[in-house]
Amino acid sequence: MNNQELQKIRADFPILQEKIYNKDLIYFDNGATTQKPRCVVEKIEEGYYYTNANIHRGVHFLSQKATEAHEAARSTVAEFIHAAKREEIVFTRGTTEAINLVASSFGYAFCKSGDEIIISVMEHHSNIVPWQMLCERKGLKLRVIPMNELGELDLDAYKLLLNQHTRLVSVAHVSNVLGTINPVKEIIEIAHKQNIPVLVDGAQAVPHIAVDVTELDADFYVFSAHKIYGPTGIGVLYGKEKLLNAMPPYQGGGEMISIVTFEKTTYNELPFKFEAGTPDYIGSTALAEALHYVQGIGIEKIAAHEHELLTYGTKRLMEIEGMRIIGTSKAKSSVISFLVGNIHPYDLGMLLDKLGIAVRTGHHCAQPLIDSLGMPGTVRASFAFYNSKEEIDTFITSLKRIVIMLS
Ligand code: PLP
Repeated sequence: MNNQELQKIRADFPILQEKIYNKDLIYFDNGATTQKPRCVVEKIEEGYYYTNANIHRGVHFLSQKATEAHEAARSTVAEFIHAAKREEIVFTRGTTEAINLVASSFGYAFCKSGDEIIISVMEHHSNIVPWQMLCERKGLKLRVIPMNELGELDLDAYKLLLNQHTRLVSVAHVSNVLGTINPVKEIIEIAHKQNIPVLVDGAQAVPHIAVDVTELDADFYVFSAHKIYGPTGIGVLYGKEKLLNAMPPYQGGGEMISIVTFEKTTYNELPFKFEAGTPDYIGSTALAEALHYVQGIGIEKIAAHEHELLTYGTKRLMEIEGMRIIGTSKAKSSVISFLVGNIHPYDLGMLLDKLGIAVRTGHHCAQPLIDSLGMPGTVRASFAFYNSKEEIDTFITSLKRIVIMLS
């Protein structure tokens, strides 16, 4: 991406022109959430101002228009991740709710005492706790794939964990702490040899790399809109039709029913069976707008630019004495976790903030991973396509000053 293209993109994000403590904002916390282009915010405004009406149930003009927009958004999502059918796209509140949905519904229907669920050591809490809750409820065991010192999953250990008790494998496509891009296609192939379904947590993958759920042969794939330049409060569960059809509803209420009597209720067809209550139909259209925006730039171009930032940022960070980068996998997304000497990550984060630089510090909602590394946490800089090498230069200059001050 040349400088002119970059400046044009940055102009789409009003927040990037903001000053923080009188300094130009440098936003390197994209792993937590991304900033929103003007078109996404305008879509939300347009929805509430001009087309707002509850969907699916109305015969009137506005309701039909809002329904069409919501269902078109579902098609946009299906195309974006290459789902075979739009009915396989279920809107949720986000990645977390999507995983809870599967843990609850799939767990209820297909898991029994003595069964096992496999996750990995680098999972976000949202891909740990729902499975632990299922384990507690039904007497299952949680098994964990270990990793090597580079932050790459140990596939030989994974193969040994799979057995006749394994009911599901659930792994991150990209680690939010280490940046590791996991070989999910291979992980899925291995599990499928034993007819075990796989859920892929794509929260950190969809914004950065091309995802094709059909090519991956993923059974479930989940992500959040807010991490891909869309609004908060909405996300996606992709599930294979056959599996979703076999699973019971997650929540009861309006929309998800076919016929209700006091004696018995029959359920709606996919995807509505899993969408109880009024859905976030404004959020879905804003998510579709965000996906169109990303498509307008091109995910390959985004990946190439972010890879350049990753390589450049890594090289420049290594100029700092005592620098330790955590996560050095060969396949890596634009996330750099680091520590400098014995300086507490919180102190680095606090002082960077005072210079207008937003990074994240702590365990990044992956406490078991951070504990296994024996660290108090890390500082995490995570880049998006609107970040620049010049911002990295300012970040490095600032960090060098802080390190001298704290050493
Ligand atoms: N999974 C991963 C890998 C994440 O990085 C995150 C958020 O940081 C989540 C899941 C949870 O996403 P959300 O809070 O949007 O549900």
